[in-house]
Amino acid sequence: MESKKFLLTEADIPTAWYNVQADMPSAPAPMLNPATGAPMTADDLYPLFARECARQELNTTDRWITIPEPVRDMYRIWRPTPLVRARGLEKALGTGAHIYFKNESVSPVGSHKLNSAIAQAYYAKEEGVTNLTTETGAGQWGAALSMAARHFGIDLAVYMVKVSYHQKPYRRSIMQTYGAEVIASPSMSTRAGRKIITDTPNHQGSLGTAISEAVELAMSTPGCKYALGSVLNHVSLHQTVIGLEAERQMEMAGEYPDVVIGCFGGGSNFSGIAFPFLRHNFSGERSTRFIAAEPESCPKLTRGKMRYDYGDEAGYTPLIPMLTLGHAFAPANIHAGGLRYHGAGAVVSKLKADGLIDAVDIAQLETFEAATLFARSEGIIPAPESSHAIAAAIREARRADAEGAAGRVILFNLSGHGLIDMASYDRYYAGDLADYTVPDSQIDAETAGLREV
Ligand SMILES: *Cc1c(COP(=O)(O)O)cnc(C)c1O
Repeated sequence: MESKKFLLTEADIPTAWYNVQADMPSAPAPMLNPATGAPMTADDLYPLFARECARQELNTTDRWITIPEPVRDMYRIWRPTPLVRARGLEKALGTGAHIYFKNESVSPVGSHKLNSAIAQAYYAKEEGVTNLTTETGAGQWGAALSMAARHFGIDLAVYMVKVSYHQKPYRRSIMQTYGAEVIASPSMSTRAGRKIITDTPNHQGSLGTAISEAVELAMSTPGCKYALGSVLNHVSLHQTVIGLEAERQMEMAGEYPDVVIGCFGGGSNFSGIAFPFLRHNFSGERSTRFIAAEPESCPKLTRGKMRYDYGDEAGYTPLIPMLTLGHAFAPANIHAGGLRYHGAGAVVSKLKADGLIDAVDIAQLETFEAATLFARSEGIIPAPESSHAIAAAIREARRADAEGAAGRVILFNLSGHGLIDMASYDRYYAGDLADYTVPDSQIDAETAGLREV
């Protein structure tokens, strides 16, 4: 029998995260302090973020950053995660490609988000923080931070994107089970929320609105810090446990990926699977292709502009040099809530601009078709977000067949399962879902006032 999955033991959980910033051939432009226009320093970031997270954010020198033992100990609840050879999917496709996926859906909250939530809650606790605030789209990050905050004895308030709050009531229940307070965003509880509701009474919320509210609460509450689940460098750093484990597991399988794929919201799971492999491209040993798979309705990597932009709708965050659709961009109400974010992190944006990674945008119906095929062939119902990576992997397998490249090795990250997203699947089966293309004119208009990088 040929192996189906490749398993490591608890002792194999990485002891350090990989900091891609130390190895990039060309560094991204610095984030700017919006008040002064000067490059951000760790001191500028401390009021908002835990001190160690602020340091990691700006660390461009240490290639390896030790994972604190209490964090590693919590990872042991579900890590290492399995690497699986998707033989069922290969058979269903009739492909000669070898398809592997790293299964991050086995975490207690069902996604990769816990990898960073635990680290961020730990660092907050270490410096005596009593309260955290955050935003959540589909509820995955909120669920992860709720669990992590509870573990370290921190109170958490979560601003949840309004459309998801109503579409995904069970994620709210999960957060409440862990003891978090959950508020639908935009809300009347912050200045930023009140302004958005006054300007657009039917605003369905976006990660941008929710971030604005969470940041405002953190800045105005003593002993309170903010935690972000994607986009920033320290979040991507924590996610590199995914790729570091996968690297060893691919070795166990006796293969090395020709193509590495992750779905793309703000970039954390893509970075997590990609960066450890990317370091071998930097050193010239390998020439792996990296593909970030984003929604057609929110195409920041494939069609966004390289600009200094805010990470949030109200303009509270530092100015990030990013591929962006504009911080006021309100994406269509697609079901991959975690991918409805207007920009890409600075590092991924730079890598894309320098041609070191690729991106594809994928229409919603194609992702659900891929998800259904995956569920029926592999048995796991994927998160709508992860389905973008599956759809991209299927495209790559078909391309390999068309090119006669039998044995091409494709690795994707299964960022989460979809068992709490079945309402989205129902709507797909009912024929209620549509594709949304963003007109060029909208992207031009939304990015018009932003400074070029
Ligand atoms: C949040 C989320 C994403 C998107 O976020 P990234 O930071 O781009 O990884 C993707 N998949 C799942 C399951 C998520 O919860």
